[in-house]
Amino acid sequence: MFNALIVEKDEDGKTSASVQEISEDRLPDGNVTVAVEYSTVNYKDGLCIGPGGGLVRNYPHVPGIDFAGTVETSDDDRYAPGDKVVLTGWRVGEAHWGGYAQKAKVRADWLVPLPKGLDTRHAMAVGTAGFTAMLAVMALEDHGMTPGHGPVLVTGAAGGVGSVATAILAKLGYEVAGVTGRPETADYLKSLGATQIVARDEINETVKRPLEAETWAGCVDAVGGEMLARVLGQMKYGTSVAAVGLAGGAALPATVIPFLLRGVNLLGIDSVMKPYEGRLRAWERIASDLPMDKLDEMIQPATLSDLPDLGAKILKGQVKGRLVVDVN
Ligand code: NDP
Repeated sequence: MFNALIVEKDEDGKTSASVQEISEDRLPDGNVTVAVEYSTVNYKDGLCIGPGGGLVRNYPHVPGIDFAGTVETSDDDRYAPGDKVVLTGWRVGEAHWGGYAQKAKVRADWLVPLPKGLDTRHAMAVGTAGFTAMLAVMALEDHGMTPGHGPVLVTGAAGGVGSVATAILAKLGYEVAGVTGRPETADYLKSLGATQIVARDEINETVKRPLEAETWAGCVDAVGGEMLARVLGQMKYGTSVAAVGLAGGAALPATVIPFLLRGVNLLGIDSVMKPYEGRLRAWERIASDLPMDKLDEMIQPATLSDLPDLGAKILKGQVKGRLVVDVN
């Protein structure tokens, strides 16, 4: 028997989440069983702990889109008992039972061996948010971004993606400008390496002029919506924006002028279906390029029983940095 956060749906379609003791035979199909040590809370988890947001297929459900732990049993040659592993994406925690439990059963294809230099707790301080931030930085590098050409903008800076992106970019030698709607997080963002704080209201306005002063040498955008549209017109010639999130909306009320007159690139970033080789490279880069002391500053510890409350908070944009859930 082990503990899991179970989300149930009643006859009226209302969901409720509680920690319950369940037996191993209730785990879904999979060829590797993992003793989960840590998980985390992403925006999607907030949806899956609550009403589901159309992501959860069947109830009862165990959410948790990320986990890290130790392999307990494996029918796959790539993994043996005792191996440390991390999982993000593949719709685990949505379509398949996830990491908010002391045990998880998954397909070996979905796992990544934990890179040297990262333990399971720090891997979950990174989680999907940090992994995606790394993918965004790598995409910007692949499109020519190098330090020394001006500030790189990070939107939604005090959130999970934004915090990790800020710390990685600063470590790599970039000037980082963080956009936040929470002025009280300025000291936190500076401690992660941001050199400039931009107030959300300054930049979160409808596009009035398709081109503004060339300001940013790159951008990791967790917000989308009007903010992304505005940022496109502020990019320096030939630079790129990595579109990661939609915390501010899914619409993109922009013009194509920055693409045509300034050669700006808009790069799409997906972490869920990212193929294995790219995942491995990103986790290795995280182990080498994300300072662990900065990651420690982002961590807010939590337990399984805190999750219903934290799920509601992340949906309201009230979480700072990275929540790390000790499931044991
Ligand atoms: P968080 O909630 O931790 O951070 C989002 C941040 O965005 C907030 O902290 C806030 O930052 C800012 N924000 C929130 N609401 C608004 C708003 N209305 N207007 C402008 N800014 C706002 O979430 P994550 O960092 O985990 O995820 C960020 C986004 O990225 C989400 O949309 C998520 O779904 C998406 N995502 C996409 C992935 C992919 O594979 N493409 C993977 C992971 C996440 P501040 O307080 O500093 O202003």
